[in-house]
Amino acid sequence: MRNRIAALICLALALMIQVSPLRALEAVSVPLDVEAIDLTPAVELRRQTGDQIQVSTAADSEGIVRRIEVHAQELGSSPTWAIFSLTNSSDEQIDRLLVAPHFKLAGSGLFRPDLGGTRIVAITPSQGFRPEKEESTDADIFLITLDPGSTVTFIAELKEPTLPKLTLWQSNAYKDKLNNLTLFRGIVIGISGLAALFLTILFLVKGTAMFPAAASFAWAVLIYLCIDFGFWPKVFSIHPDNSAIFRSSAEAVIAAALLIFLFAYLNLNRWHIRFNWIALAWLSGLVVLIGVAIVDAPLAAGIARMSSAVTAVCGLALIVWLSLQGYDRAVMLIPTWTLLLLWLLAASFTVAGYLENDLIAAALGGGLVLIVLLVGFTVMQHAFAGGAIQGLVSDNERRALALVGSGDVVWDWDVSRDRVHISADGEMALGWSRGTMEGPALRWLDFIHPSDRDRLRTVLDALLDQRRGQINEEFRLRDHEGHFRWFLLRARPVVGSDNEVMRCVGTLFDITDNKTAEERLLHDAVHDNLTGLPNRELFLDRLDAALKSVKDNSEAKPTIFVIDLDRFKLVNESVGMNVGDTILMTLARRLSRLMKGGDTLARLQGDQFALLLLSENAPERIAAFAEQVRKAIRAPIAFGGRELFLTASVGVAVHNEKYRFNDDILKDAELAMYNAKKHGGDRTEAFKPEMRKEENYRLVLESDLRQALEKQQIRVAFQPIMHLQENRIAGFEALARWEHPKRGRINTAEFIALAEEIGVIQDLGLYVLDQAARQLSTWQREFENKTPLFMSVNLSSRQLMRHDLINDVKTILQRYELAPNSLYLELTESLVMENPEFSMQVLARIRELGAGIALDDFGTGYSSLAQLQRFPFDILKIDRFLVKPDSSGRRPVILRSIITMARDLGLDVIAEGAETMSDGLELLQLGCRYAQGFAYGEPMPAEKITDLMTRAIRRVAAKA
Ligand code: C2E
Ligand code: CA
Ligand code: CA
Repeated sequence: MRNRIAALICLALALMIQVSPLRALEAVSVPLDVEAIDLTPAVELRRQTGDQIQVSTAADSEGIVRRIEVHAQELGSSPTWAIFSLTNSSDEQIDRLLVAPHFKLAGSGLFRPDLGGTRIVAITPSQGFRPEKEESTDADIFLITLDPGSTVTFIAELKEPTLPKLTLWQSNAYKDKLNNLTLFRGIVIGISGLAALFLTILFLVKGTAMFPAAASFAWAVLIYLCIDFGFWPKVFSIHPDNSAIFRSSAEAVIAAALLIFLFAYLNLNRWHIRFNWIALAWLSGLVVLIGVAIVDAPLAAGIARMSSAVTAVCGLALIVWLSLQGYDRAVMLIPTWTLLLLWLLAASFTVAGYLENDLIAAALGGGLVLIVLLVGFTVMQHAFAGGAIQGLVSDNERRALALVGSGDVVWDWDVSRDRVHISADGEMALGWSRGTMEGPALRWLDFIHPSDRDRLRTVLDALLDQRRGQINEEFRLRDHEGHFRWFLLRARPVVGSDNEVMRCVGTLFDITDNKTAEERLLHDAVHDNLTGLPNRELFLDRLDAALKSVKDNSEAKPTIFVIDLDRFKLVNESVGMNVGDTILMTLARRLSRLMKGGDTLARLQGDQFALLLLSENAPERIAAFAEQVRKAIRAPIAFGGRELFLTASVGVAVHNEKYRFNDDILKDAELAMYNAKKHGGDRTEAFKPEMRKEENYRLVLESDLRQALEKQQIRVAFQPIMHLQENRIAGFEALARWEHPKRGRINTAEFIALAEEIGVIQDLGLYVLDQAARQLSTWQREFENKTPLFMSVNLSSRQLMRHDLINDVKTILQRYELAPNSLYLELTESLVMENPEFSMQVLARIRELGAGIALDDFGTGYSSLAQLQRFPFDILKIDRFLVKPDSSGRRPVILRSIITMARDLGLDVIAEGAETMSDGLELLQLGCRYAQGFAYGEPMPAEKITDLMTRAIRRVAAKA
């Protein structure tokens, strides 16, 4: 059956040949002086069934065409035949080399590339001697002789169905070309080998994964080049037909190495677990591919080429993405990867046959080495970057590093010399200077909370006794301010050769936050965590209980006191939150001392206390108690060598049967307290029903303030700041003013405080800032060239803590195009000290934008100038309480030193509250540059300032 089909096909083919008249062969003329002739276009390929072929030769000089018959080497095979004719029209004999290279990259194809191998099995000429085959591992070469005036037709039997290239060379020219190419290839392989070796050595020195990955890529390239340049067949006897397998495997290895390098270098496993799986699957595919290469080399090579292309393109996407994430390694890989992509582009053009050139294959080989070199440089930057700690560390070093990394404090007790050592960060955390906590164990125990001391001592003694075990103890350590922090000590004894404990070593771990969180959970729900007093909830609960018992026993009528400190916010601002807290605790203690059984004192909020009085009933006794409360608060409070006097507004409500809900009575007491406050504070008011009518003056004021802001009823007044030496207005402070339609001018400090409380200070502050900047720009333009002017605007704490402050300032600076460094923001030290790190950053940003910072009310606070030095202030404003002379007409001594010190620190000084001309004169003598105060003008509307300035300038002009 099969034979019948084969016979049919033969017949069909024979018929076709008969029908289509054979095209006569054109002979290619071979000139004497041409080094190489590309015969590829002149070759006619014929596929014939059967092991023989009949060919009509090209016509010779006499026009005679002959028919010859050629038999295949192998009986029964049916090879493809390549037929071409050559003419020697000279009168000399011509010897030429006919060269058919085994492999040609250009046009080899992408999907199932032609990987080369033996091309020509044998050649039969139509006349003369059969061409002789020459030895070569990478091409089929035949020596051809053409007699003078002859035309010879050659019939070549092919191994494969195609013949990509056939060239006729002058023998010497061919050898020259080979030599040149060999030299180039030698150099390229040499460099490639060195690179591979170098990267391998780097890997041995530095154990990071990227080095072996880079090295494996270098080796893969080296292997490929050796095969491509035909070095391997020279070293090992490889049959040319097997070289396809090697070539294909080498391509698979390169594809794999490229993938491994990309993965290891970019540390992809770190970014996403998904990358691991993709890469692993891909890689195993490539390993399988090496096996496939043995069975079907072209298929494997095609896949390997695709894989490399995909790796390169996906790699590019990854690199771009990771670079955008700010990953340095990705950024550093960009040049290498760009070169790789260019190379791949050139290679694919070549492979697809768009780039045809003798040199392209060699150039691509060189390019590959260039990529390896770039890879080498890229990874080398990592090899030599990084500190001394990279690479190998001993076990001890590793432990030490781990300790440093964990942030734990090292605790070490050298028992034999009895010295306790605590690492510097431990002492620092507690605010002690270096070495304070070092010394004999007994001295160290002094730092421990008295109630923890004995327990810890027992534990240490037991450890010395037993010489084993572990300390795992929690105790409190005192910090430099006298507060205690909780620590967990974990340590072990180290036993010496004499079987005695030599030392105990371990770590101290600050667990204060956990501890306080625990305690707070238990206590916080019902107690105020500053004073430890009951909070509002517990107070209401006690009130409830008290009222219930009233029903049973009509004798005892509970009385409620609500106590609110006057101007405590100012106190807090001037002495700092810490001292403010201490003051509250002092007052809480004093008030508790007034309590008797059944009475309750609670802290409702901030500076507000409530008192439930059950122990007194008679009105005159209650009045006497109220007086005691007033005295307790008025008694001076000493701190830091100063004395502070506080007052409070107290509201009192006595229970009667009309009260239905227990917090109603508390509300009435609060109302009475607000009434006391309204009358200037420092007084006690008993609740009267009329007070309800005036219901919450505050509430009304609150809504009025909101409206005033909306309707822009708040105005900005400007107070001149004088340059003392030059006796001219140098700048202004912007101050908010509120003219209430019914109540008249509202005290600024009061409504600013109100605005802070109800959260409209940001709008108000921004409004003032905007108005002030606009006015300043007007004045700067109006008095341009005459006098430089600056503006100083107050900032409240809510504004500083808000994140858009920087944006607001930026917008305003841009909007009004102010002269550089002419806008200042004033803030108080308590404000910056509330959150020093944050403030520092915000202030620095504001200064970068081109606004200055003034420290307001200096001298009322608690911090020293040295402490404030780390903030970027430009101006120091000395509070008027330091400027004002005392009753005997002398000014505080400290004024002079503050001015000197500020100037030493490079700060400008503005003295506030200069009320008389002699104040100004004296300030000038003290070296103060600017002053502000009633002596030079109260805060006034902008128009008045304009008048003032115009007149002053005219006066100066008149004088001149
Ligand atoms: P401050 O920043 O210390 O402002 C100076 C205060 O001293 C002003 O009171 C001013 O009228 C007053 N003053 C000026 N010269 C003299 C003088 O020679 N002798 C005396 N005894 N006082 C003088 P004002 O305008 O009532 O402002 C009170 C406080 O309200 C300001 O104190 C400031 O902290 C705050 N404030 C005013 N406007 C604003 C604002 O727009 N935003 C913010 N956040 N606070 C503001
Ligand atoms: Ca101010
Ligand atoms: Ca001030």
